[in-house]
Amino acid sequence: MTTHKIAVIPGDGIGPEVVNEAVKVLELLKKLDPSFEIEFETFDWSSEYYLRHGKMMPEDALDTLKKYDAILFGAIGDKRVPDDVTIWELIMPIRKNFKQYINLRPVKLLKGVPCRYMDENIDFVIVRENAEGEYSNSGGRLYPGMEQEIAVQNTIITRTGTKKVARFAFEYAKRQGKRTVTSATKSNAIIHSMKLWDEAVNEVGKDFPAIHLQSYYIDALAAYFVLRPGDFEVVVASNLFGDILSDLGSAVVGGLGLSPSANLNPEGDFPSMFEPVHGSAPDIAGKGIANPIAQIWSAALMLEHLGREDLAAVILDAIEQVLVQKEVRTPDLGGSSTTSEMGSSIRAAIQQLQFVKEGRSR
Ligand code: NAD
Ligand code: MN
Repeated sequence: MTTHKIAVIPGDGIGPEVVNEAVKVLELLKKLDPSFEIEFETFDWSSEYYLRHGKMMPEDALDTLKKYDAILFGAIGDKRVPDDVTIWELIMPIRKNFKQYINLRPVKLLKGVPCRYMDENIDFVIVRENAEGEYSNSGGRLYPGMEQEIAVQNTIITRTGTKKVARFAFEYAKRQGKRTVTSATKSNAIIHSMKLWDEAVNEVGKDFPAIHLQSYYIDALAAYFVLRPGDFEVVVASNLFGDILSDLGSAVVGGLGLSPSANLNPEGDFPSMFEPVHGSAPDIAGKGIANPIAQIWSAALMLEHLGREDLAAVILDAIEQVLVQKEVRTPDLGGSSTTSEMGSSIRAAIQQLQFVKEGRSR
């Protein structure tokens, strides 16, 4: 039996609060399922760490992380450290060095979520390019502080990088029996990078004749997300567009407290990383009221990646049960429950589901 070795980076703010609940869920599954072995090592790399050591993580952090099967990440961000430092010194090096060039973000409306789309069937994924695009450190500033100051920020779109993310999106669609891939573009105005994006996505699309490719300008697409979110199946987008679309998609299906993500290294030569879409939520940090579902669902995506789709499904069933029961809800869902109450209800539901399963096989 393989033991899944997981590196846990709780981070800042609500990160540690929600990661704690996700780890407890995984530990419960280990207890309930004798065929599931998992081990955790926790790393305190965070803004606190930065304030003590002058860096977000040690020099050999990537070498350390390389040895794990996956990384479970909370969130980072602290007002005492500039946001670009926390992001560029912790998340970006992991995403880039571990070639996690796919950021997969499910936009799925769970049963029991109170929101205006309650009666619609919304179930799509955003496949966000995660290694290049608009999030580059190429560029610079001229005449700093002066009236004539100019900033140039380069977007890096490569044919190879775009084809890889497009291929992932089409293959995902094919595997899941979906018929449409929607590409987010803006080639009418961003004429160099986005035209190459379009060309590369079209080129890959030709290999998947059974799947319809539609391209929308990002501004129109944002409106369609709000007007008819039930129409999408797989959305493929550049780094920035995908980032914005996923917060929007998340708002449509109940908010950031419910949205998971996976930073995938599809080749499997480095560990992949699983984290909620949300950040460290300084406005509610320390109050014990953050919704742990996004983090617990991210752990479920991690289990899927590790080949335990069965256990991932148990987690998702349990989350939906708790939501449908309506008794335990954190404030973001209109309730007054705490993070730990939400976490323990989900674990209770898992135990229940497990019991039902055993009951059936007897
Ligand atoms: P945020 O996601 O932290 O918060 C946005 C809003 O959503 C806040 O009102 C917050 O209370 C709410 N929210 C978020 N997660 C929630 C949860 N689990 N339960 C209930 N409510 C939740 O985004 P922000 O305010 O733009 O950024 C705060 C900090 O987080 C910044 O320092 C930013 O750089 C950082 N950040 C980090 C990541 C990451 O670690 N990957 C991602 C986004 C933002
Ligand atoms: Mn984001």
